[in-house]
Amino acid sequence: MLNRALFCTLMACTGDVKESSHDTETTTETTTDETTNTGETTPADDTTTTDETTNADDTATGETEPVLLLIGLMVHLEGHRVDSESDHDDYREAIVAYADLFDAHGAVPTWEVREPIDSCLTYKDPYFRPLEARGHGIGVHADLGGPDMPEGYDVPLFTDDLAGMKSRLESQEVSVRHVSGVCSELDWTAAVAGAGYSFVTGVVDYCLKSLAPVPEEVADCVDPADCHDPYPAELADRLHPWRMDDDNWIDSAADGSVVILPESTTSLPKLASGGDDLSFTDEDIDEYLVQLEAALALVDPEQVNVFFQLWSFGLALDPEVMERWLIAIEPYVASGQVRWVSLPEMYDAFIDWEAAAR
Ligand SMILES: [Zn+2]
Repeated sequence: MLNRALFCTLMACTGDVKESSHDTETTTETTTDETTNTGETTPADDTTTTDETTNADDTATGETEPVLLLIGLMVHLEGHRVDSESDHDDYREAIVAYADLFDAHGAVPTWEVREPIDSCLTYKDPYFRPLEARGHGIGVHADLGGPDMPEGYDVPLFTDDLAGMKSRLESQEVSVRHVSGVCSELDWTAAVAGAGYSFVTGVVDYCLKSLAPVPEEVADCVDPADCHDPYPAELADRLHPWRMDDDNWIDSAADGSVVILPESTTSLPKLASGGDDLSFTDEDIDEYLVQLEAALALVDPEQVNVFFQLWSFGLALDPEVMERWLIAIEPYVASGQVRWVSLPEMYDAFIDWEAAAR
């Protein structure tokens, strides 16, 4: 219970906090002290980070509390044509195999769905419902509003399309509160809000194209692939969700319609190579840990702190490397520094934090 109290201190749980997902992990959390006391598995021993950020030595003596960073993985299920029931079945099996791997290591992916929204309906196989029941996050990946949008496409059409994807996925009895793949020259924030979404992920520099005037750094960017770095530019600014100002989404406003959950780094297989090599490698894992340590050093206990990556699947990644990545994260979970959650749970933590701040 001490650890739950600590969690609520860090996450600013409200006084009437429901006995919710925070409590379901009590057994895991109560093992924290033993794990840290071994002194062998804590990340601090293997790295050069400062004592302030890892706390491993201090925790062993009970002097300092561990920091807490909510970690996740955003999986874009996109770019996969399904032309037959066997295509649909093969894709589902691949997704579920990765889901099993994540579950085996206590990791919590968030599936942001494009093509399977409709193939699940066509083949009457709503497989996202059982994944949500396993604690995974579910959302929409739209890939709409970009430079290849049809002639005459506008905010009302954009809004209708986003609302349609949401309702077709919700018809499969999953809860859908967020969307990615919406960056546009159009006012994408109005379309997202109008379609009834509560939060947005996958915000990259190209999203700045909706602002007037268009910021200089993206003024010449025609292809989103050329301005696809996560926004904002500094990691420190990407660790905290914000409720966006409806008139200027890069600013925050208490009465904004939609929350932005910023992704922390470039996508998993690009971490080390910067995009030249799209396979997931051990070098990517090393770079992930460097970035994770950097994020831990920046954790602000007064705010909600999130750290998640993109995997565009799309491209299947080597499951053996994936498993080594998941294993590399486990000591951080055991020491209480990080906690796997879905992206909807990150949003909920932000809503709790907002409520406590009022
Ligand atoms: Zn996409």
